Amino acid sequence: MLEVSNLSVNYRGIRALDNISLTLSPRELVGLIGPNGAGKSTLIKAILGLVSFQGKVQFRGKPLRRQRQRVAYVPQRSQIDWDYPVTAWNVVMMALTPSIGWLREPDHRVKQAVSAALDRVDMLPLRHRQIGQLSGGQQQRVFLARALAQQADLFLMDEPFTGIDQKTEAIMLEVFADLKRKGKTLLVCSHEWGQALSRYDRLLLINRQLLANDRPQVVMTMENLHRAYGQSLQTTMGGNAMGFSFC
Ligand code: ADP
Ligand code: MG
Repeated sequence: MLEVSNLSVNYRGIRALDNISLTLSPRELVGLIGPNGAGKSTLIKAILGLVSFQGKVQFRGKPLRRQRQRVAYVPQRSQIDWDYPVTAWNVVMMALTPSIGWLREPDHRVKQAVSAALDRVDMLPLRHRQIGQLSGGQQQRVFLARALAQQADLFLMDEPFTGIDQKTEAIMLEVFADLKRKGKTLLVCSHEWGQALSRYDRLLLINRQLLANDRPQVVMTMENLHRAYGQSLQTTMGGNAMGFSFC
């Protein structure tokens, strides 16, 4: 479904990603992991064509930039302007009306899709709330609803599990399982290393380069941990690489 070949990104001469190649298939929940600054957000943005890159990104055999509506993107929290005056409803609506703008009244079908997506993440009752006046978990659910409403085939999610409550986590995991059942592909970033990573079908471990690409049990070794996280290791406890927590 998605094929990334020899992708590299430079920011003003500094290499953020170096020669990354990977493929994603339908019905896969893939974790993109690595420490802060590893290039996870950059990789997602390059796939979306939001930063310039060398290499090739193909979606179903064609350049992805011509099929953007097939790809849903949930940005990292820190990249969203939470003071922007917009309601939860309109955050979701905007994903469906990129071209018709605000002057035309959206039709019934669009409203239904927005309503169904907000309901799926239990945010319909708070639909009129300004986005800045929701909790972190509720905000994340609104952005998940926005991705759902778009009816994409590929979902790119940047650190969706950061700073959320248990209810939001449970809803997100249910939604991910549903999407997989429907044949969708999910690429989900995380900078944490721990037991939770066993929820993924496959892990891509990066730190500028792709260091590992395999099932969680295979990727989560002490050796990979040190290769990827090196200096940023916060604690060490016992010999089990599944049980660490990191900054
Ligand atoms: P991650 O998401 O894994 O934490 P990022 O993709 O945000 O990593 O960043 C990778 C590297 O690129 C970091 O060293 C970061 O400082 C740098 N970087 C990210 N965005 C920019 C930018 N717009 N301009 C310059 N450097 C950037
Ligand atoms: Mg990031």
